[in-house]
Amino acid sequence: MLALMQRTRVETVHMTVDPVTGLRAIVAIHGGRQAPALGGCRYLAYPDEESAMIDAIRLAETMSYKAALAGLPFNGGKAVILRGPHVEDRALLFEAFGRFIDSLQGRYITAVDSGTSTADMDCVAQATAYVTSTTQAGDPSAHTALGVFAGIRSTAMARLGSDNLEGLRVAIQGLGHVGYGLAEHLHAAGAELLVCDTDPGKVQLAVEQFNARPIAGEALPTTPCDIFAPCANGGVLSAKSVAQLRCAAVAGSANAQLTSLDVGDLLESRGILYAPDYVINAGGLIQVALQYQGAEASVITTHLRQIGKRLTDIFAQAQASHHSPARVAQAMAERLVYG
Ligand code: NAD
Repeated sequence: MLALMQRTRVETVHMTVDPVTGLRAIVAIHGGRQAPALGGCRYLAYPDEESAMIDAIRLAETMSYKAALAGLPFNGGKAVILRGPHVEDRALLFEAFGRFIDSLQGRYITAVDSGTSTADMDCVAQATAYVTSTTQAGDPSAHTALGVFAGIRSTAMARLGSDNLEGLRVAIQGLGHVGYGLAEHLHAAGAELLVCDTDPGKVQLAVEQFNARPIAGEALPTTPCDIFAPCANGGVLSAKSVAQLRCAAVAGSANAQLTSLDVGDLLESRGILYAPDYVINAGGLIQVALQYQGAEASVITTHLRQIGKRLTDIFAQAQASHHSPARVAQAMAERLVYG
């Protein structure tokens, strides 16, 4: 684990157990700036403790890159609460997590993530002020969806020569908090939607609301389309899956889409433009960060619009340097984080 910390330059990992509530939690902090670390809290069932620790460390590094490229003055942080088969009292569990966060004295600020909700953050807020995305602050997913929508426009412009989405075929994998919101924006802009989700109810809703075409999950990435938007799980872009893609670009919200940076090169060699995930999906982080700092809604909206511009810059640099957008984004982030 120390080797992974060295490799990712995650400096600190905090852990706690609380015998009363059953809380078992990890917080990983990345980045050398004189600033608090910001990032969501996952509440998931992991196969073992090591996987949970690896998830926290890797995601803290990504959050650092995401904050840097979004121009936010925060280090990267990630919390993981290991979900057991049974929880006695969820509210008390998250309150105990709040006490753990408070003990870190502001070095880490938490927020919602996979498996947690704004109601959970309300419980955290009973014990600490170092929390955002409470019920009052709102779920950041809508902002992530808006950022991805802006990013898809820039991606279409760079790859297809127009940011008019009318008639563009976009394949959305995952109709959750972000994917469904994205579908709404794309439908309003006149895009044709191809959708899949493991939950048939969500697919049915998208068919009814957006006239979307349902596609069987495993067939979606290989269905011809203009833009493939992964909005479910990470790791969807591997050497094997990229060889089968039939799209002009990949632009979606899922974290850690590439199984390795080499896969970014493969996409490039196939002429598929890739919008780096931690750039296009930064909308939620932008909202929680700026709201935590007390910014007005209009400031947040202006900042969100920058996602499209940032991607345009990355695509231009990638074209000029003959490197993939994934490599260009990583180099930019490393310069900002490490100097
Ligand atoms: P979510 O849990 O609300 O939605 C995920 C959806 O994907 C669910 O509807 C689920 O049924 C579906 N799904 C799961 N496995 C699938 C599969 N194999 N094929 C098709 N559908 C599948 O999550 P979310 O908040 O919408 O986030 C989606 C992705 O975006 C995640 O990777 C998340 O880490 C990333 N992300 C989210 C935010 C945010 O603000 N919510 C911010 C940045 C990144």
